[in-house]
Amino acid sequence: MKFSKMFIPTLKDAPKDALLPSHALLIRAGFISQLGTGLYDFLPLGLKMLEKISAVVREEMNKAGANEVRFSYMTPSEFWRESGRWNKFGKELLRLNDRKEGEFVLSPTNEESVVNMVRGRITSYKQLPLNLYQINLKFRDEARPRFGLMRGREFVMKDAYSFHSSEDDLRREFENMHATYERIFTRLGLDFRAVSADSGAIGGSGSKEFMVLAANGEDDILLSSSYAANVEAAIRKPRTSSSERPEANATSKFHTPNITSIEQLAKFFHVDPFYLVKAVIKKGLFDDGKGGVSEKIVVFFVRGDDEIQEAKAQNASKALELMDASEAEIAAAGLVAGFCGPKGLPEKVEFYIDNELRDEEQMIIGANEKDYHIIGFKMTGFNDSRWADLVAVKEGDLDLNGEPLVMKKGIEVGHIFMLGTRYSEAMNATYLDENGKAQPFIMGCYGIGISRLIAVMVEASNDERGIIWDKKCAPFSVHIIVPDVKNCAALEFALNLESELETQGIEVLLDDRAGARYGEKIADFELIGVPFGVVIGKDYANSGEVELITRKGLIKEKISAELVKNKLLELLKDER
Ligand code: ATP
Ligand code: MG
Repeated sequence: MKFSKMFIPTLKDAPKDALLPSHALLIRAGFISQLGTGLYDFLPLGLKMLEKISAVVREEMNKAGANEVRFSYMTPSEFWRESGRWNKFGKELLRLNDRKEGEFVLSPTNEESVVNMVRGRITSYKQLPLNLYQINLKFRDEARPRFGLMRGREFVMKDAYSFHSSEDDLRREFENMHATYERIFTRLGLDFRAVSADSGAIGGSGSKEFMVLAANGEDDILLSSSYAANVEAAIRKPRTSSSERPEANATSKFHTPNITSIEQLAKFFHVDPFYLVKAVIKKGLFDDGKGGVSEKIVVFFVRGDDEIQEAKAQNASKALELMDASEAEIAAAGLVAGFCGPKGLPEKVEFYIDNELRDEEQMIIGANEKDYHIIGFKMTGFNDSRWADLVAVKEGDLDLNGEPLVMKKGIEVGHIFMLGTRYSEAMNATYLDENGKAQPFIMGCYGIGISRLIAVMVEASNDERGIIWDKKCAPFSVHIIVPDVKNCAALEFALNLESELETQGIEVLLDDRAGARYGEKIADFELIGVPFGVVIGKDYANSGEVELITRKGLIKEKISAELVKNKLLELLKDER
């Protein structure tokens, strides 16, 4: 491909709002262009990357036995009402009307579409399992679209959905997809980890995220040599404390005037906050079961020196969303801020207690009365449904084997998920089992952020001059630069090298621009980030030598022109 024929509008400066290197570099190097908030156009180079990544994903998904389909980007609202997500999905769901006032959504994900595609068409257990996938646009009206392709509103996803007649078969396919994802991300040259993940509001029995470790990642993950989990799902060995447990002779009320914070309380009683019970009061939004949303105050109790993990709290309470409660809302619920405890709460207030507090003795809790706490309290007698895993696991906490956990930042590139029967039941999608009985399909779903991957690759590998594509997945493998195209011998050699490499299945970008100076050509090579560069300059005529540049580290080497083709074939032998 000739640079002069390709639309590659490179820029010297990055847009001001580009905070991440990947965002700035993809725009500067002419891969993408921003059209609006969270909306990007793909230029030829960007589209090439999108297609390359899609090709790897498609090949591996096909090999794994999945079938490619394409769902309509716009989906009629009736399916979303049927599944119950019309109301449950918040503002991320973009709803629109057509000229006949029909209601539609731009698909943020396609469970409804796939269930509708399969129901009535797959009728017997003999036709199962089935895995359908697409590579298509998604739209999520994200609250904070940012970081370019990392978190767009319109983006490209590979989404797959599988159908099974048993939990065992779902687990088999989950493992199949797990292995497929490992192959995909390895082929893309990424350093990734599969981590346990939160199954969230979608429900389901198990889920794993594929994370690329990167300092600019938005996700927190906890790692040890034998454990890896998103902080939203991380578990730990229950903590212990070496400091003395307070000892009250009896459970009694204690006057604690104006002592409202954990720090004040620990100081007041001279105890480790480990022995205090902290109340975190939230306002939750809930599905009211009638197609609307209701509000309720919910209290979460954890140790004084723990924090709640919001995703866990949300799962425990089944809230659609949790937010801070105002002073007025807290008071209106009959709670006394600063003195709230699990005993004697107003009856209508919903509450949950962290599992690690179970049966703990000699605890100090709020008395639900201004200026009073209760001491010597034993955490028993609560209904089983009140107990839940609520704590935010921290760096340094121990995994179940006793090994300290380390916190790292990660970017989620894929998510595999055992869905179960949530959608098939809601949408009445059944098959007949061996006994001729109708059963809801057991489902799994599996996503990969195709357009996000472009940004992730750049985030994982760049320097102050530009992008450094991994040779496993780059827009081109070789970038030939002819500093002066009036130098006929050099240009002829370059054209030959280009065609010989291309015959060998190597993609070449040949900078044959007559109007660009050498400095500009080199700067563009460094910015665009093709793994290998070859400069065919004056030395070619003088000594028959060219310069081979490895983009990673900008390592330059003079090499005889005769040898350069074989050298490149050797360097790229696994990539052809
Ligand atoms: P996140 O937690 O990052 O918001 P998610 O859990 O909402 O992602 P999924 O519903 O699991 O995402 O979607 C599958 C994949 O799609 C994700 O693993 C991610 O790579 C990608 N993805 C999700 N949201 C976006 C977005 N706004 N822009 C680009 N890619 C996205
Ligand atoms: Mg996810």
